[in-house]
Amino acid sequence: MASSGNVGRASYKSERPHSSGNGSVSLRNNGGGAQGQQHSARPKAPMSSSRRSVTPISRTRSLPLEDDPESERVRVAVRLRPKNAEDLADSDYSDCVELQPELKRLKLRKNNWSSESYRFDEVFTESASQRRIYEVVAKPVVERVLDGCNGTVMAYGQTGTGKTYTLGRLGKEDESERGIMVRAMEDILAGTSTSDTVEVSYLQLYMESIQDLLAPEKINIPIVEDAKTGEVSVPGAEIVKIRNLGHFLQLLQVGEANRHAANTKMNTESSRSHAILMVHIHRSAQEKEDIDVGQQKEIPTDRHGHHVATIRKSKLLLVDLAGSERLDKSGSEGHLLEEAKFINLSLTSLGKCINALAENSAHIPTRDSKLTRLLRDSFGGSARTSLIITIGPSSRHHAETASTIVFGQRAMKVVNMVKVKE
Ligand code: ADP
Ligand code: MG
Repeated sequence: MASSGNVGRASYKSERPHSSGNGSVSLRNNGGGAQGQQHSARPKAPMSSSRRSVTPISRTRSLPLEDDPESERVRVAVRLRPKNAEDLADSDYSDCVELQPELKRLKLRKNNWSSESYRFDEVFTESASQRRIYEVVAKPVVERVLDGCNGTVMAYGQTGTGKTYTLGRLGKEDESERGIMVRAMEDILAGTSTSDTVEVSYLQLYMESIQDLLAPEKINIPIVEDAKTGEVSVPGAEIVKIRNLGHFLQLLQVGEANRHAANTKMNTESSRSHAILMVHIHRSAQEKEDIDVGQQKEIPTDRHGHHVATIRKSKLLLVDLAGSERLDKSGSEGHLLEEAKFINLSLTSLGKCINALAENSAHIPTRDSKLTRLLRDSFGGSARTSLIITIGPSSRHHAETASTIVFGQRAMKVVNMVKVKE
């Protein structure tokens, strides 16, 4: 089930949405209430440590993508990449889409006479800044994770449309270009104290094998699911405690270099693999205001009667998905076609889960791939999920852009990744 990852914290349990008792969590009828509860769970105490010298995240709380009462469904934003050199050099160039950001609508041109209109939670034109994308798409998720729930931000789209730019850009020369990964870590470090722990793993998923981007000798790392809590983890991967933002930037750089090296060795392109950054936050309950001061709640003790620290765990997944273009279009047949399908098994499986969820199907095939298994406790449910779909502007890629848009539309209907306990 979609688990918040909280450990035995009654006050946080009560924050959770209605449970249907079969291991699933339903938020459909929660109205705006979930939002209010979520806000009340934020720490209000002044922050004291050096890490907290930055403006506390709670003071600059961003708004969710839209004031939709179904505030817990997957949020989907679309981002248009600016024209690139290829578009500019194309003498047959024509625009594939027309954006109406104020209406949160996108019109996809079918031909010279007609177009189809789609509504998203947010529509970003090619001039949208990295900062704005972060604030609208990712920050509400980061805030949720600081509150103790799990969260996911994913980028989906054709290769070359800006997924890595949106998520993984380091902005070494120009900080305004920093992507979601760096900005999220900045806010996480600002929103935690030195007695909390922030750790990351950085993984690549290729051909259903999980590889460690921080320790490239580690391949085929297994996913472990806790049968009792539903918590998903990859304990075999390197887990690095983050000291400061500079340290994190170094790790991202190492990961990027390893991704490049691994793909060269395997003779493949990074567009065929998924890059997954997992951020684990462990907060000690003692310093949280929700320690239940005045409520006479018991602080847990061990068998000798000593108080034991209660740790609240949460997890943020930032996922740069493999290119969504169909590999079978390249004319592969027989064995090659099978291989092409296998390369994208995780992406196909994610699409199947999203379709099944959008159609209210009883069975959600989350076990079919590594990606959907990894997402089980972090996609929908009490977790908060944002999907950013990236598209290019040229009609030359009309078919891929159309299929990306359809994927995004289906994802907007998703509330829970797992509705029925398997
Ligand atoms: P993907 O990861 O989807 O394959 P990339 O993020 O690598 O695509 O982007 C492809 C190219 O387009 C890169 O050179 C990137 O810097 C550029 N690019 C993508 N999005 C933007 C943007 N919003 N503004 C400026 N350049 C962009
Ligand atoms: Mg990329």
